[in-house]
Amino acid sequence: MQFSKSIEAFQQAQQSIPGGVNSPVRAFKSVNLNPVFIDCAKGSTVVDIDGNQYTDFVSSWGPLIFGHAHPEIVSAINKAAQKGTSYGAPTLYETEMAELIVEMVPSIEKVRMVNSGTEATMSAIRLARGTTGREKIVKFVGNYHGHGDSFLIKAGSGAITLGLPDSPGVTAGNAKDTLLANYNDLASVEQLFAENGENIAAIIVEPVAGNMGVVLPEKGFLEGLREIATKNGALLIFDEVITGFRLAKGGAQEYFNVMPDITTLGKIIGGGLPVGAYGGKKEIMDQLAPNGPIYQAGTLSGNPLAMAAGSTMLKLIRNTADFYPELERKAKKLEEGIRNNLKETGIKAVLNRVGSMMTLFFTNEEKVSSYEEAMSADTTRYAKYFKLSLESGMYIAPSQFECLFVSYAHSDEDIDNIIAANLNALKELKRL
Ligand code: PMP
Repeated sequence: MQFSKSIEAFQQAQQSIPGGVNSPVRAFKSVNLNPVFIDCAKGSTVVDIDGNQYTDFVSSWGPLIFGHAHPEIVSAINKAAQKGTSYGAPTLYETEMAELIVEMVPSIEKVRMVNSGTEATMSAIRLARGTTGREKIVKFVGNYHGHGDSFLIKAGSGAITLGLPDSPGVTAGNAKDTLLANYNDLASVEQLFAENGENIAAIIVEPVAGNMGVVLPEKGFLEGLREIATKNGALLIFDEVITGFRLAKGGAQEYFNVMPDITTLGKIIGGGLPVGAYGGKKEIMDQLAPNGPIYQAGTLSGNPLAMAAGSTMLKLIRNTADFYPELERKAKKLEEGIRNNLKETGIKAVLNRVGSMMTLFFTNEEKVSSYEEAMSADTTRYAKYFKLSLESGMYIAPSQFECLFVSYAHSDEDIDNIIAANLNALKELKRL
């Protein structure tokens, strides 16, 4: 493989874009490589501008659960574009989208569309604060909820990848209202409520953590959060930007059967276009302007192209009878293949998986169920693993603290190929 065009493109991009990228992890900084610039993609394959082809397990960081350029989604976008790209006035697309979300996500009775996951979580905590009249929120160390000021405190994703969990520019005033608890540690949440109970508007949590690598909620954790929130008059917010429509059609709340008060969504619901959403019980959602006093708005919110793509995606999911069983079968096959490879090579690692999301942690720990255990992973080893994977045509996340996503577009052959590439990479890591 050669990367000369990507190397040149990155140099050029850095002249006019900070770091050469519009989202930090894309720069491949933590894996010490030049990022590949993508030319095009179809199904499970992406092609870079040097003509190298990869089987894609990043899936645009989650949205593309049917693979790239799905014909029905592309056609829906084209059709919508022919009629105009934005009106700043209500359209039927938006009602269809909202009805699909309300139908599919158990705890959502009404939903408001925004343009990114970040916007969804920022708006959700304003709604929680406005509804309860309280100011503080509880967030978990290593969870990532986008780049809103309240969340860039011990944040996951690119923030930990780049060693920047606390960002300059977040004011002390903002930071003091974000209380930090430990994922899978109910006692740490209880303690915050014992100290600040009256002032806590909401607990916000990734029901499955995906931004410190995949960390599953232990039995009773989500149920415990539900109980603590209810007991203390606080709201429970599930950030389902990753898990929404991925773990089940009703997301993690359906998968684990625990109902939040507010849900934030993004990624999959946009079908590859920029979309976010937040929804919940009618009484809460009706506090939003114009019905209620809590303000939130957006020039491009509910954009017709994004709604056409998103609603087509949701209908594809709803109408594909074997969708979740197939995702589970393929992801399980991949998990078993990697586990066999680990056994064969004697490489010590922990593989966490739920449904179609998984992370291979290069750690000596026996399990990864906490932030500390996730942070014990050897990121230098991951960087080598990433390079070996890329060179064998497997595009995985350029960070230890992200997910690998299996999509419906992955064929059995794709899965066999990544298992084979994983074996070669593990053998090489052993040798290094
Ligand atoms: N919440 C979670 C759980 C996420 O994973 C992300 C993005 N990875 C966000 C929020 C922010 O979404 P966006 O990048 O669309 O702003």
